[in-house]
Amino acid sequence: MNILKIAFFDAKDYDRQSFEASNASGEFDICFLDTRLTPDTYKLAEGADVVCVFVNDDINSFVIDKLYEMGIKLIALRCAGYNNVDVQYAYGKVHVVRVPAYSPYAVAEHAMALLLTSIRRIHKAYIRTKDFNFSLEGMTGFDLHGKTVGVIGTGKIGRIFIDICRGFGMNVIAYDKFPAKDSGIEYVSLDELWERSDIISLHCPLTDENRHMINSSTIAQMKKGVVLINTSRGALIDTEALVEGIKDRKIGAACLDVYEEESNIFFHDYSNHIVNDDVLARLISMPNVIVTSHQAFLTREALSNIADTTLANIREFFSSDKCANEVCYKCGQIADCKQLHDKKCF
Ligand code: NAD
Repeated sequence: MNILKIAFFDAKDYDRQSFEASNASGEFDICFLDTRLTPDTYKLAEGADVVCVFVNDDINSFVIDKLYEMGIKLIALRCAGYNNVDVQYAYGKVHVVRVPAYSPYAVAEHAMALLLTSIRRIHKAYIRTKDFNFSLEGMTGFDLHGKTVGVIGTGKIGRIFIDICRGFGMNVIAYDKFPAKDSGIEYVSLDELWERSDIISLHCPLTDENRHMINSSTIAQMKKGVVLINTSRGALIDTEALVEGIKDRKIGAACLDVYEEESNIFFHDYSNHIVNDDVLARLISMPNVIVTSHQAFLTREALSNIADTTLANIREFFSSDKCANEVCYKCGQIADCKQLHDKKCF
């Protein structure tokens, strides 16, 4: 068999390192491209068998048609979520595989790192002591012990985050569309979760149904001073409503690893530019907001697992009639997948 060609979009140095290590035998011909895959850049995939993409590539119906016309067989996502791929449209044209898990610990630990940084003002202390300012004015935090955390989505990441929170002596309540049986987790309705939580952390996928699940009316139901953590997908939160909630002093702090308009901004260095996104600029200017640029996944362990699983998916797809990590085109849901067979879907 000819060596398979992979057009690898939105490649960063850390991707190159992990994929080159995983492909040390030269089994695949990987062409690393700096640009994202979008309706303007799809032509760069000409001649490839596979496109390898990440969270901010835009694989809409137009791009899928073009990939299909170019004879590309497979879209290999090197991430878990696939809300940026029109999977229902892809059915019957181009197969889509993903990396369902690479290090849920990386994301759960990052969520806790953001929370601790925020409520203990570590981000402020770091800057103060760098400037030999040892004042403690304005640095008062609060104990996590005894506080109630509301976790939305109790899958791989949410469960690990729950264990971490329990280690801090926090009370955990949770909402999941598909609650886990016999998990020992106290499931509540979303209304109850908004009302009881001191801290709310999002660990569910983004779907059409839960887009903007945090909005002005759900914020109104929350406790004054609530801390919001989002390491899932930006569009779970209506960002303008979030800004208003913080300005009204209703929301005590926001810890954001994702942002609904992140695709043209995150992963790039704009330190010498004027960023044109006023909502993001306003958020970043607030002392009780911490933004990281979709870095929760970024650990050595996760990168190595992502590379190994992505290449294993491609190998499995082209060498057998199976592809265990193919997405479900019918339901379009990650957790709700009713795929009962272990073959390629078409
Ligand atoms: P998972 O599939 O193991 O768990 C998701 C959970 O969400 C499931 O229990 C599911 O039942 C539940 N769920 C589905 N729809 C829901 C809804 N509408 N409301 C409430 N719960 C719902 O996924 P995971 O590995 O734990 O990942 C969770 C999310 O984290 C991913 O979807 C992705 O968006 C995000 N993520 C972010 C990063 C990052 O770097 N920031 C990295 C990996 C994953």
